[in-house]
Amino acid sequence: MDEQQTIAGTHQFRLIEMETRAVTTTFSRPQHLNVPADLLDRPKAVFVNGRWQVGRAAAPMISIDPSTAKAFSSFLPASPDQVGEATEAAERAFADWRRTSGGERSRFLSAIAAGLRDRKADLVALQMLNNGKPRYEAEIDVDDAAATFDYYAGVAKDLDAEQGRSVALGDDTLAGATHFEPLGPVGLIVAWNFPMVTTAWKLAPALAAGCTAVIKPSEFTTLAELVYADLAGQIGLPAGVLNIIPGGGEIGAALCADRRIRKISFTGSNATGSRVMAAAASRIVPVSLELGGKSPIIILEDADIAQAVEIAAAGIFFNCGQMCSATSRLLVAEGIAEDFTTALLGKADQLIVAGHEDPGAQIGPLTTPEQFAKVKAVLEKARADGLDCIAGGSAVPGRQGFFIEPSIYRNVPTDHPLWREEIFGPVLAIRSFTSTDEAVALANDTDFGLAATVVGTDGDAAAAVARNLDAGHVWVNTSQMIFPNTAWGGFKASGIGRELGPWGLSAYRGVKHITRAA
Ligand code: NDP
Repeated sequence: MDEQQTIAGTHQFRLIEMETRAVTTTFSRPQHLNVPADLLDRPKAVFVNGRWQVGRAAAPMISIDPSTAKAFSSFLPASPDQVGEATEAAERAFADWRRTSGGERSRFLSAIAAGLRDRKADLVALQMLNNGKPRYEAEIDVDDAAATFDYYAGVAKDLDAEQGRSVALGDDTLAGATHFEPLGPVGLIVAWNFPMVTTAWKLAPALAAGCTAVIKPSEFTTLAELVYADLAGQIGLPAGVLNIIPGGGEIGAALCADRRIRKISFTGSNATGSRVMAAAASRIVPVSLELGGKSPIIILEDADIAQAVEIAAAGIFFNCGQMCSATSRLLVAEGIAEDFTTALLGKADQLIVAGHEDPGAQIGPLTTPEQFAKVKAVLEKARADGLDCIAGGSAVPGRQGFFIEPSIYRNVPTDHPLWREEIFGPVLAIRSFTSTDEAVALANDTDFGLAATVVGTDGDAAAAVARNLDAGHVWVNTSQMIFPNTAWGGFKASGIGRELGPWGLSAYRGVKHITRAA
């Protein structure tokens, strides 16, 4: 890396003598974030069989700071033949890794958790730069990733004890025993909204189960993911157990098509999830799909309005609304609708929308230019269709970067895309209801079934409503808390399978039953 000059508050760099070619561009790196250069300058960004390689794709990928819309790094991604090298390495490593004890795998997982915590400050800064997350959000992200590895370290420790448990067959001449086998080398494809966490939710249980892994990160947030490879090297994870192949959709598609990959776990959009499933279907390979949502939040008549406002705001504005679990459809009891809406508008008005330059930022920018364009188009359509916008409704005027105002729409028709489709931005649609049955019916009238929230002072009554909602995870009087030992995943079009907890481990294991003559 050859530093050219320093301009007030901004480092400008000339990149990079790659091993095989030279790519030159100018980068803007905010000094106040102090992201270490080793996380930003990756002349070798492909990790295969325990070694870093120069990506052999034809063109570099540029990392963009969403707070400024300026480039801050660039790397050469993998070529399709490097996908083959990664899957081959994962297949080779699987032969030994599957035979390690649960205790051994547990120690590696604990070491990854510790490594993430050691680098927490740097990873927080990187996520602020790359994802646009406010500091407190980036901190939660790194903490949750580490907690996931810790949780599966605990799970792995106990796995050997459950192998070979006998099953009574009711026949004295025969004995039965159940074993669990890792599925093989697995392909893990993730999105950009919570890059480190969504990868942890896949990688930790996969390694715990005895699978080897090839990770395809999002092209938009690759740099944070590469830290997993750094850690693999530091902790002496056997070569080939973890491989990372940065690249775009074509690299994800090549991974899905590779005959050595025995399971695919995907987080992202329904459109791509459908492609991943089709590719897996053509080889009869199992998939786990963690897809979109249009999740409801129900504010019951007896709700404490101040509490309801906090929960509703967190449900749609955290991570700038870029959450599969965002509670983007709000249903409020008619009797309190006016008071609640007034209080929510007050809250939205106070939120500080800002980039990493502002330590008080509460809502950052959207992460990618594509997402910014998509959300702006949604807001323009809402305007053209005459929806009742009571807050926001446009990009933050007069500033660079991908900032959208916290936006709230009232009385949104139930057939409008703003009510029905995932937006992935800080955009809330509100309707009121007159009975709990009506609220439940409206809440369940969606193609999705990922998450939901219910708010009401009578916690038992609110929990009873929760039982009637078609959602994989329902929060009652709290918002968006996900613990490693609870299930994550959805009904209907929100996906297939569950991550986290024992269910997340099952996604990477098959059952083998041995019946033998006694
Ligand atoms: P995608 O679903 O396209 O991307 C998710 C991952 O899949 C990325 O790593 C992507 O690579 C990869 N990918 C793309 N095409 C293929 C393919 N054919 N085979 C295998 N992998 C592939 O999401 P986007 O980033 O394009 O976001 C689009 C929309 O998806 C958002 O507006 C949002 O609504 C929704 N979304 C939902 C998420 C969720 O958690 N449910 C997460 C992110 C997005 P690459 O990014 O490099 O192209």
